[in-house]
Amino acid sequence: MRPFTSTISLEEARRRLTAAIRPIARTERVALADAAGRVVARTVTSGIDVPPFARSAMDGYAVVAADTAAAAPATPARLRIVDRIYTGQMPRVSIASGACAEIATGAPMPGGADAVVIVEDTTRTTDDAVEIFAAARPGQHISRRGADMSAGAVTVVAGDVLTPSRVGSLAAIGRADVEVYERPRVAILSTGSEVVDPGQTLAPGQIFDVNRFTLAALVAAHGGVPERHKAVHDSIDALTEALDRCADADLIVFSGGSSVGERDLILDVVSARGEMIFHGVAIKPGKPTAFALIRGRPLFGMPGNPTSCLSNAYVLLVPFLRATARLPPYQPRIVRVPLGRRIDSPVRRHQIYTVRLRDGVAHPAFKGSGDITSLSQADGYIEIPEEQSVIEEGALVEVTLF
Ligand code: AMP
Ligand code: MG
Repeated sequence: MRPFTSTISLEEARRRLTAAIRPIARTERVALADAAGRVVARTVTSGIDVPPFARSAMDGYAVVAADTAAAAPATPARLRIVDRIYTGQMPRVSIASGACAEIATGAPMPGGADAVVIVEDTTRTTDDAVEIFAAARPGQHISRRGADMSAGAVTVVAGDVLTPSRVGSLAAIGRADVEVYERPRVAILSTGSEVVDPGQTLAPGQIFDVNRFTLAALVAAHGGVPERHKAVHDSIDALTEALDRCADADLIVFSGGSSVGERDLILDVVSARGEMIFHGVAIKPGKPTAFALIRGRPLFGMPGNPTSCLSNAYVLLVPFLRATARLPPYQPRIVRVPLGRRIDSPVRRHQIYTVRLRDGVAHPAFKGSGDITSLSQADGYIEIPEEQSVIEEGALVEVTLF
């Protein structure tokens, strides 16, 4: 066994990680249908007015507002219907005083008309005459040309995350694609001679690879593209070769082999190739987490224990990845609820403690750092700072929901 050279606080780990963030600079053009969730790389302005023509906002009649000035239920204005305007068609005639056009929501306004009366305020008397029971204000129920966006207006700004509505705004101005930042490519490698892919048959002593899947799911959810790699055997040669295969990744995430056991070789391989920024964080679970720069390329060495690996990925990897992807910090949902049972936390480490919510109470769900069910059967986690050693039953705790 080799001792940790030094263990740093969670805050210090966060500081060092923040200092190492290099937001992605490469950009690519993506089809609008694939643009949701991406980060805009170049500000887009509209080339057209939206809507491109003045249109009716309601089903009803396009009128000359002055004709309806005295209209009321007892004194309706009687107008002649001279046109029927449906969407996708242009009006055939202009509207003069005493006339009107039946018009559909979204259909172009005819010339001469300056208001729309909704169909509910009218009665058809004959096929080509209508009575109007309410006075119309000029401009009423008309969306004027360019009311939504005028030509030249800024539609999305570089750095904006493409929410559904922003994708919609690009569609509205007729853009079929958009320039976005590339998503960071994240090489995910599990190490351990005992680790095999799900779908195979376990030989004695083997276990299925959990970390590659938890990490890939988390990476994909936070703006990265997980790159699939096979599990790597515990040998210097295999690890070195694996590292070489990650040459075009923006971020490398190893799991396993980051502890201090004889066969935890990842540290040796990484130290030989790059600069170790830290190894050992005062956090539980997941103390043996390491971070290094390999010729400027960031590398996380996550603990092999599945719950340690994933909970540290939430706490350390996600903020780093999101900043690299130029996404805003993740804002998890947090609920304040009473604790169902006292938790002792004697270790002088920042503890991530999983809980399950039942009837508005947080119940401890942590089993062991090797047990994925510590997380999969929990709803979220509470954080117990380094200096705190106990939380009493009934105390209000903040649960960060997954
Ligand atoms: P290590 O960090 O390599 O010392 O591994 C700690 C524990 O986690 C051991 O019980 C490993 O078998 C287990 N482990 C390591 N990698 C994985 C993985 N990818 N999936 C599931 N368990 C793993
Ligand atoms: Mg191992």
